[in-house]
Amino acid sequence: MYDAFVALDDDRAADIRVGRRAAANFSMGLGFMTDPNGDALKGLGALTALQDNASGFFQRILDTHGDAMACRAGCSACCHVALDVFEGEALRIVSWVRTLDGFERAALRKALEQAKAGGGTPGVDAAGKKRSPCVFLSGGLCAVYAARPVICRTQGAPLQLRKEDGKGNVTVSVDACPLNYRKEGTFPVAAEWLDLDRLTVLQVLAERQCAAAGNEPMPWKKSAEGRVSLGEVRRELLRLLA
Ligand code: SF4
Repeated sequence: MYDAFVALDDDRAADIRVGRRAAANFSMGLGFMTDPNGDALKGLGALTALQDNASGFFQRILDTHGDAMACRAGCSACCHVALDVFEGEALRIVSWVRTLDGFERAALRKALEQAKAGGGTPGVDAAGKKRSPCVFLSGGLCAVYAARPVICRTQGAPLQLRKEDGKGNVTVSVDACPLNYRKEGTFPVAAEWLDLDRLTVLQVLAERQCAAAGNEPMPWKKSAEGRVSLGEVRRELLRLLA
């Protein structure tokens, strides 16, 4: 397994895997105590670092296997999806918008209004099915690319998932965009797969750091699991940019 996210000693890595230690240890171990981008909202340092690491992981896959991948500007197949995200990820997008200058804010507002006016005209997802686009897809590009959620940064890479059948049997499967690695012998080796279970644990820890920071509540609706739809985030951005 290619460990793109952390360089921890075995003990601490085991703690992260089973979620034994608090977010503070995660912060100490990874040096995430400050927000690297000087974001206006608090507690986003771990998330921002995780997002950067996810992008770095994907870039390494692209550098090595780009010839076998469809991922490039103009392919938005994996953006034909309706995403709910951790609240920290929603705040990260808001925080990024607050750092934009007047010109950038105007351009973003135009892109969001265009996406909204398009009304979610269906496109084709990676499996060839007709689906509505993400609310942030505008002109085939992501309007919030710099602050996009972690999951968006991993699409196109081989994603490993463990499944338990309830009887103690564990199987490991790997999935990837069907547009990638189509020729025999081009699929990345197991050492290059991204461990989604591990990524989820790290996201939960980053979310705890954000929740503990005491940001002002945002006026968006959350699901029972505390997730925020990107539709709610777009609504808040349009209010911010009005
Ligand atoms: S947030 Fe951006 S990258 Fe993620 S699905 Fe939406 S348009 Fe695509």
